[in-house]
Amino acid sequence: MLDLTLIPAIQTTLPPVFEARHLINGQWRDSADAATTERLSPSHGTVVSRAAKGGKDEAEAAIAAARAAFDDGRWSALSGKARATVLLKVADLIEANVDRMALIETLESGKPITQARGEVSGAADLWRYAAALARTLHGDSHNSLGADMLAVVLKEPIGVVSIITPWNFPFWILSQKLPFALAAGCTCIVKPSELTPSTTVILGDLLTEAGLPAGVVNIVLGYGQPVGATLASDPRVDMITFTGSTAVGKGIAAAASGTLKKVALELGGKNPQVIFPDADLDSAADAVTFGVCFNTGQCCNSGSRIIVHEDIAEAFTARVVELSKQVAFGDPLDPATQVGAIVSPEHGAKIDGYVTAARNAGAKVALGGKPLQIAGLGPQFYAPTVVTNVTPDMPIAREEVFGPVLTVLTFRTLDEALKLVNDADYGLSAGVWSENVHTCLTFARQAQAGTVWTNTWMDGFPEVTFGGVKQSGLGREIGRYGLDEFMEIKSLVMRIGRTRAPWVRPR
Ligand code: NAD
Repeated sequence: MLDLTLIPAIQTTLPPVFEARHLINGQWRDSADAATTERLSPSHGTVVSRAAKGGKDEAEAAIAAARAAFDDGRWSALSGKARATVLLKVADLIEANVDRMALIETLESGKPITQARGEVSGAADLWRYAAALARTLHGDSHNSLGADMLAVVLKEPIGVVSIITPWNFPFWILSQKLPFALAAGCTCIVKPSELTPSTTVILGDLLTEAGLPAGVVNIVLGYGQPVGATLASDPRVDMITFTGSTAVGKGIAAAASGTLKKVALELGGKNPQVIFPDADLDSAADAVTFGVCFNTGQCCNSGSRIIVHEDIAEAFTARVVELSKQVAFGDPLDPATQVGAIVSPEHGAKIDGYVTAARNAGAKVALGGKPLQIAGLGPQFYAPTVVTNVTPDMPIAREEVFGPVLTVLTFRTLDEALKLVNDADYGLSAGVWSENVHTCLTFARQAQAGTVWTNTWMDGFPEVTFGGVKQSGLGREIGRYGLDEFMEIKSLVMRIGRTRAPWVRPR
């Protein structure tokens, strides 16, 4: 008996199956061969959406539409004000559709409805922020090159952008990319994960309603092969931005290299939080519990490994175990639920495999370590899990488990903690808990990560850029740098007056 907080199935009627189709050049289309895929709710085991399954033909038609839309300037030649007006309308429409979008997001992904509502309405703010950037977009000028020279650095939209997104935050991640690409003046082809296509498709309708010209955003549904691979390799595409696993990200970089298109990658993480004895330990334990349980641990930013000072390791771990028992796991449709289902049976088995291997290698499971049976719900739930007696070389301490599984390592000195933090292939985010500003600043400067949180975890803002180092990715999203990713830089050098001395010496 684990003594966890479990929320049983609520009595409710699920909505009709959502039908998702491709959006190509402003037209909603089935696949030429009429192929479809079905998505089962990971929590309830019933079909919740049916999507057209695209092939190479649909991907190529979408690329052609995006290319034509970019080249004729129907979007890229508009003023920043005109682009911002459309983006702001989209934000309003997202807010007006939060409930319907959150419901299908929950049914496809297994995430709690309260969280899904927060993500969809939060995404509207990303669209508003991108609209602000569209109006403030500017390059640079060099007015100190000499009396006869003036140089201007122009920013131009990079062109046609392929966007490939994962299943864990389908609408949020799309909104970290698409409005920024549109603010820059790019045209796009979007491929959502085959597991969670529907909120991307709903957005397609909202874009049309907001007045976005046909062909500027095209949506192709289907698998990585052949749809994603075509979007990554086609010479008519200028840039690919991808969020997903490091393994697929490497394949995308290789596919894109044939035409040297720009590649932006947001990949996996094995994110450490270091806890010093002088920290506010109650806040730290709460944030650690949140960091590993949020989105069932299926989160690039999952705080999946903690590195705790030896003097407090036992008591701190016991506190995290106690808090984890109080986190509400269960039916994602119940607003009280904090943690929902695992995305697929295969993924559940992978999580369990990591825990079993760690146990066999001598680690101790202080809590959980097994699938959960919750009244009235399917089998895809996994208990909050805390694993101690872990050594840094174990796969559970180095690889992305992508489940509610926390590993505990210990340290004695800041140097030792930093060595453990940086002994990783990944470098997405890292955290430090201490009341000593010197400890926090030294840690922040030396941790190899795209984001460092001090005395907090996973706070994010549209203004603050995000991305990873090492094998966690390439490039940055959101914030001003997120817009720059979608811009090409052109230098314009101008001579004023006929002051240029001839290079050719007259004979
Ligand atoms: P995934 O790599 O399996 O799939 C991501 C997307 O790529 C899907 O749309 C999939 O259909 C597509 N794809 C698969 N094979 C492809 C191919 N050969 N060519 C082109 N596209 C292909 O990832 P996932 O399981 O959907 O998502 C989980 C992963 O995403 C985790 O590793 C997680 O850390 C990462 N992630 C990273 C961030 C970040 O911001 N760094 C955010 C969320 C998720």
